[in-house]
Amino acid sequence: MDTSYPNTQLYINGKWKDADAGETIDVINPAFENVIGEMAHARKADLDEALDAADKAFIKWKNVNPFERYKILRKAANILRDRSKEIARIMTIEHGKPFGESLAEVNLSADITDWLGEEARRSYGRLIPSRSSEIYQMVVKEPVGPVAGFSPWNFPINQAVRKIGGAVAAGCSIIIKGPEETPASCAELVRAYADAGVPDGVINLVFGIPSEISEYLIPHPVIRKISFTGSTAVGKLLASMAGLHMKLVTMELGGHAPAIIFDDANVDNAVQMIANNKFRNAGQVCVSPTRFLVHESLYDKFVDGFVKISESQVVGDGLNPDTTMGPLAHDRRLDAMEMFVSDAIDKGAKVKTGGKRKGNKGYFFEPTVLTDVPSDAKMMNEEPFGPLAPIVPFKNFDDVVEEANRLPYGLAAFAFTNSAKTAEKISSSIESGIVSINQPWMPVVEVPFGGVKDSGYGKELGSEGLEAYMQSKFITQKSSIWLFFIFNWITKRLNQFIWYTNFML
Ligand code: NAD
Repeated sequence: MDTSYPNTQLYINGKWKDADAGETIDVINPAFENVIGEMAHARKADLDEALDAADKAFIKWKNVNPFERYKILRKAANILRDRSKEIARIMTIEHGKPFGESLAEVNLSADITDWLGEEARRSYGRLIPSRSSEIYQMVVKEPVGPVAGFSPWNFPINQAVRKIGGAVAAGCSIIIKGPEETPASCAELVRAYADAGVPDGVINLVFGIPSEISEYLIPHPVIRKISFTGSTAVGKLLASMAGLHMKLVTMELGGHAPAIIFDDANVDNAVQMIANNKFRNAGQVCVSPTRFLVHESLYDKFVDGFVKISESQVVGDGLNPDTTMGPLAHDRRLDAMEMFVSDAIDKGAKVKTGGKRKGNKGYFFEPTVLTDVPSDAKMMNEEPFGPLAPIVPFKNFDDVVEEANRLPYGLAAFAFTNSAKTAEKISSSIESGIVSINQPWMPVVEVPFGGVKDSGYGKELGSEGLEAYMQSKFITQKSSIWLFFIFNWITKRLNQFIWYTNFML
């Protein structure tokens, strides 16, 4: 497969351009650790240009009717589909994930674009009966204004599209800080929207030092809404900054999903589904199953099955068609995996398979299964965001619920059971934004996605994915005395007519 890789420019006010000061940041291929290209590095002058463009574009874009916006989004979705193989190739080179996963991500992003465009046509307001026949009361939905979006590297397109698509569909403009680890595929998403006819200034794409950009954009008076996906620690920092400046916020933060296997579950099915799900994107997924809580009666069988699936993973370059798990996306994750494993071993955990870096070139880490992991081990408390599977036995329902809800996270949870009663009970007991029973859930466009507790607030996807970029305005109007008489006269005539026709029939 072609291994060429494009450099990435900033996209501001409808133009692809180098940074004002000419600075760049290197991009590294995580499978080979070599520099493959560069991206433009935005500083304040570039951000000012983007702010000015977003401000001016918003005034026009908010008045473009939803049907026109929908048509542009539909076109963008089709462009993404047409270019999906080339975009997926670029994504795999800069991120490392297997080509098939990249391709699925581009196609899902096209579906998200379609969905948000369609939702724009359904951004209904409502009429509310008033206490006086002279008064009309209505609620209309309006775009919130220019948005600052911060999108991470684990899904270079799928995370950015929720923010860009939501903002554009709602009638907002957006400045998106793309992922510095994976800039080129994110830029291809923006290119698809631009080529579909999104007007200049509505989408602006920048890269740089994340803290420098957020500290400048969030307090800026032009920006009305912040949307961030990333770690809980950074999310709290940005949310507090946004709160200080009274900005609307969507925070899609970390998770630590419990995966519970009850004693009546089909253990073979459960292990097959959940273990393969664990190694998707090398475990760098906020909804990845993370703490495997298995009823003691099935424990040994589950561990054996999990080890088998882990050892069957083909770890390698994502462009190789046999690869099922690529490298970690950057060297920080490799250091983190080594830290999590050695900390668990120090505290008494046993490594059943994996546990170390694979080779000495590329950020590869072995699919890893651990048992006897105490609850004070770091991996049982902090989001590992990698291919680590600690498996822990439990005795009864109350104990497992207590363990599942022990952490401040609340993004996703999984449970396997053949009992409808247990399924209902666990769904209502778990503190989580998403609960998936008997299946390895993956994001779909029609349903809301987001967490509770420290996993953040606000939703992406579903109808909520558009709502997040709109605000309600209440309008009340007292009709003029003439309008009032005319309205009353029409209503009386209409009533007479209805009475008369009913009578005649
Ligand atoms: P990190 O916390 O440094 O960065 C996470 C993301 O936040 C990156 O995209 C980064 O560009 C951005 N970021 C960091 N500081 C920022 C700031 N001050 N202003 C604006 N954006 C900022 O960690 P990392 O090493 O890149 O990733 C590791 C951790 O991040 C993981 O353990 C995981 O918890 C979390 N993460 C979560 C998601 C998710 O989907 N929720 C995605 C990526 C990373």
